[in-house]
Amino acid sequence: MDNDFKSIGTFLKEKLKKFEYTPKEYEYGVVKSCADEIARIDGLPRCRYGELLEFGGSEYGIALELRENAVDAVLLNKSGTVVPGEMVSQTGRVAQVCVGDGLLGRIIDPIGRPLDGLGAVPSDEFRPLESHAPTIMQRTGVNTPLETGILAIDSMIPIGRGQRELIIGDRQTGKTSIALTAIINQKKDDVFCVYCAIGQKASSIAQVAAKLKSVGALDNTVIVASTADDCASMQYLTPYSGCAIAEKFMRDGRDALIVYDDLSKHAAAYRAMSLLLRRPSGREAYPGDVFYLHSRLLERSAKLSDEYGGGSLTALPIVETMSGDISAYIPTNVISITDGQIYLESELFNAGIRPAINVGLSVSRVGRSAQYKAMSGISGNLRLDLAQYRDTAIFAQFGADIDESTASLLRRGERLTELLKQARDIVFPLSRQVAVLLSYNNNHFDGIDLNKVAAARDGLLERLESSIGDTMRSIDGSGELSENDMNILTQASGAFFEELKNAKH
Ligand code: ATP
Ligand code: MG
Repeated sequence: MDNDFKSIGTFLKEKLKKFEYTPKEYEYGVVKSCADEIARIDGLPRCRYGELLEFGGSEYGIALELRENAVDAVLLNKSGTVVPGEMVSQTGRVAQVCVGDGLLGRIIDPIGRPLDGLGAVPSDEFRPLESHAPTIMQRTGVNTPLETGILAIDSMIPIGRGQRELIIGDRQTGKTSIALTAIINQKKDDVFCVYCAIGQKASSIAQVAAKLKSVGALDNTVIVASTADDCASMQYLTPYSGCAIAEKFMRDGRDALIVYDDLSKHAAAYRAMSLLLRRPSGREAYPGDVFYLHSRLLERSAKLSDEYGGGSLTALPIVETMSGDISAYIPTNVISITDGQIYLESELFNAGIRPAINVGLSVSRVGRSAQYKAMSGISGNLRLDLAQYRDTAIFAQFGADIDESTASLLRRGERLTELLKQARDIVFPLSRQVAVLLSYNNNHFDGIDLNKVAAARDGLLERLESSIGDTMRSIDGSGELSENDMNILTQASGAFFEELKNAKH
């Protein structure tokens, strides 16, 4: 008996000797109140701004308002399962999203959950939604063109890889269509695309996905979507999430294009969150940091130097205006952040000029360095031609006497406007754009009736494709227009218009 006690005593003593006690510290907060997707939490004095919080093990939220011994967080779900008294713990990390090639062709929500019913997203790499923009030393100048396939843009408002070009206009002016055409045109260039749908109708997102799929462009595109009935926090996170996914491509030394459709809805979602968080409101009821909201997002686009892989991230943010007012708060902010804007007008759209680009108010501050040599050599005079045409057309409306030079100016302007019209989803490769502009410069379209200009253009392109297809491919391949190619192109175009003229007589 005695022996037994002794052995148990030694056994326990030995166990105690080996026992290592490393205390673990857990810090919990308690939900004080929860309404309108905002949870007010008592405790968590060491919580950090933007940290992901866990509510009862199933719900998540992001800490956005830090006070002494209290935190306000936005919830990421609308489920309504968070109740007062619930325990909240810190996760020690910020919100993150899965990234990588496995996402291509998929539709996901901002925290990486699939929305396309195709099962879990195959990816084991994650990136934080918010990260620092590339530093000055990591960047280099924008010097490679990003072709949109839209003649009016590639010729007069060229976009370079790594640039941020705003698409701005009223509702239903073709903003999304321009961005989609640009995405469709990247298929051949190995530029990976991310389309961020922020607070849009689910039906619009489905249409975009169907469109991209039908032309085979979904394979190199990721759609990050939050719908209009998602909570404000999800809409707020969408562009950051898309940017994180696109950044991965850039950091891997590849080229990426991201479309934010649209930042007006993003700002409105942030305003809703800020008002619920009881932050003081400023102009148009937006909080004071709404500029930073977009500047930190758009600064993440860059062209990296060769030392850092040489990748690029081009951004096409979209902003919706009310009655063409570009001096409202969000439009002016985003205009000042970006490197240029494509301004779309309802009047032009309704007059049948589509894409409805107002060339006078549209600019690209990167300029000719981001344009193929073949294009920059022949597109220099277009802006001037259009500006002169617009000015003169106003006077001509009053029935003023028109001399021959003015009449010719009007004639050319009308035809150029006609040539720049482009159906939705039709992309023009460089060679076709060059061919059209070369014929315009050679005054070939001047003798053609206005209503037949578009048909003549399409006929010309078809003819060139069949007769000098090799030359067209060589222009597309090199981006240059050699003297030899130029001669072949001029000759073939000349012959086509000669035939057209003879057929008329
Ligand atoms: P919203 O403000 O609703 O987002 P939006 O400015 O994005 O609209 P889109 O949805 O791109 O505009 O286009 C509006 C309509 O105009 C669509 O029905 C589209 O088919 C048509 N459209 C756009 N671009 C063209 C074009 N180049 N040629 C013919 N139709 C076009
Ligand atoms: Mg749209």
